[in-house]
Amino acid sequence: MGFKRKLYPTARGLDASSRTSHSNEIDLRTEFDDLILGGATSIPHGRKALIRKMRRDSDNNLTACSCVDSSTGEPDTEAECSFCLGEGFYWDEVWTVVYSTYVGADGGMANRVRTLTPGSLRVDYKVFYMKYDTDVSYQDKIVELRLDSEGDPVVPYNREAIYKPQTIVEYRSDRGRVEYLAVYCREQDAIRR
Ligand SMILES: [Zn+2]
Repeated sequence: MGFKRKLYPTARGLDASSRTSHSNEIDLRTEFDDLILGGATSIPHGRKALIRKMRRDSDNNLTACSCVDSSTGEPDTEAECSFCLGEGFYWDEVWTVVYSTYVGADGGMANRVRTLTPGSLRVDYKVFYMKYDTDVSYQDKIVELRLDSEGDPVVPYNREAIYKPQTIVEYRSDRGRVEYLAVYCREQDAIRR
């Protein structure tokens, strides 16, 4: 059994000339850059953070750190490994700029102290908005560094919180172009040091 129905009723929507001639469409990539990175007339609202990217071998598998016990497959938890910091795999960290906010079904962190009805569960998410071409995957981590009062990372760098992507959403314009990314992370799962 195949998926017989065509994706589009006609091919007109994919016509190349019609994709480029809408100059009145808001360019969200540019808007994003202005807001997060700062533009000619705006201050940057983003903050510096790290994306911890797991290293891959030639077969695209994660590469186990030397601290991982070959019989149990678990990293040594007695003394945290200074290479992988407990991940159990080799990784590299790359700088990025993100804008983050909290979301929750009932208003997020702002309503954290409100009384919950019996049986309901608090799930707060932190959303990291990232530039459309940011290389981030579900195996990666988002690392927040301690910042000084001006927003610059404190040196020596101090990894303050580590988030694991739960859902990565590519926000696209009506014409299908990726405009920015939103990475949803469960606040409860954050590792704080
Ligand atoms: Zn290690």
